[in-house]
Amino acid sequence: MTGGKSTVEKSQSWFRRAAAATPGGVNSPVRAFASVGGDPRFVVKADGPYLWDADDNRYVDLVSSWGPMILGHAHPAVVDAVREAASHGLSFGTPTTGEVELAEEIIRRVEPVEQVRLVNSGTEATMTAIRLARAFTGRAKIVKFAGCYHGHVDALLAQAGSGVATLGLPTSPGVTGAQAADTIVVPYNDLDAVRKVFAENPGDIAAVITEGAPCNMGAVPPADGFNAALRDVAHEFGALLIVDEVLTGFRVSSAGWYGLDGVAGDLYTFGKVMSGGLPAAAFGGRADVMAKLAPVGPVYQAGTLAGNPVAVAAGLTTLRHADASVYEKLDTNAGRLASVLGDALSAEGVTHTVSQAGNLVTVFFGERRPTNFDEVAATETWRYGPMFHAFLEAGVYGPPSAFEAWFVNSAMDDAAFEVIEAAAPAAARAAASATPPESA
Ligand code: PLP
Repeated sequence: MTGGKSTVEKSQSWFRRAAAATPGGVNSPVRAFASVGGDPRFVVKADGPYLWDADDNRYVDLVSSWGPMILGHAHPAVVDAVREAASHGLSFGTPTTGEVELAEEIIRRVEPVEQVRLVNSGTEATMTAIRLARAFTGRAKIVKFAGCYHGHVDALLAQAGSGVATLGLPTSPGVTGAQAADTIVVPYNDLDAVRKVFAENPGDIAAVITEGAPCNMGAVPPADGFNAALRDVAHEFGALLIVDEVLTGFRVSSAGWYGLDGVAGDLYTFGKVMSGGLPAAAFGGRADVMAKLAPVGPVYQAGTLAGNPVAVAAGLTTLRHADASVYEKLDTNAGRLASVLGDALSAEGVTHTVSQAGNLVTVFFGERRPTNFDEVAATETWRYGPMFHAFLEAGVYGPPSAFEAWFVNSAMDDAAFEVIEAAAPAAARAAASATPPESA
């Protein structure tokens, strides 16, 4: 998609049909262009680092399906594995050998995980992890951080990141007062606040849930020692630490964020990369906690399609191909993307910080890297939409929200970077000339 104004008529026409059939025309709010303006592109195919929309415009994809596609799109080995699995039947409702292999691969990679159970989405994983933590401790309350997103679990939607932050929703109607009352929200990276809520709620807190490194308010990594201190405080008060690695897991290293900071949580949640791009996710952790789960223990959890053989084939093949060279490439690509974005914005005199949590990248329009959601919200997020659209127009598909990370994949090569590099000056100019909304 180079030169001239691109045509997006077919996407627009599909969006009109979509909006009539589905609220907002999308099946997940973050796909809408609600916060950046304009109509979403309808993607019809993808290969390696590229997406093609219904009007045959090509984009370098910096969303990577919000994480799963670390090997790039339509990786031949993953597609073959899916084809092979599908040819043997789509779902059996019995145990399968692939599920065991996927569980073993996760356990092999993430040392504190002694047992796992497969589910269909990250939301299911976090929902069950908190149920399990409550049952294990006999306590009701959960501590979460403002700006962290753990899926659309009722109890975890308060001051959440991702689409909830993008759409500016403080919480979601439909969540009952009782559910909200059992959730305590504290600012990220604030240990004193965590200690205070534990002191104020003695014997009531079942778990602290945190993203390994928060990336749903943009990439806001934990301060040095924060995750370790969190675990220590939780344990001091008899609570569990749930590390949500749905986004960071198997992406930022072969063992996810745990591979970078080595802090052992009691329970973990996974999704995205381990799904290979099909619906699959998992939770796991200490064997004594997992032993509470039915059919061994009394905590119920189930799923008709959990451990689906086609999804398992995609996830297992993706993990088996995600070796050291892939993680090296992801880190290189993230560093290269961060430099391109930073250099272009500096050249235009735009105040910004490029933040990285491992290979996840976010541009914040402010002088300092934010350490929590309030600081993220105080940045000049209104510069993002014009920058996003300039990139899009030049064939670069970034996340349609200022509150998300940019996801590189290992299929990105020099040709893909040339497109990004060619697009960056105009995108930076668009950010520079953006004006705040009237009310700002
Ligand atoms: N946890 C984190 C950290 C996530 O980033 C997400 C999704 O973006 C989820 C949980 C929910 O996963 P899913 O969208 O598969 O339900």
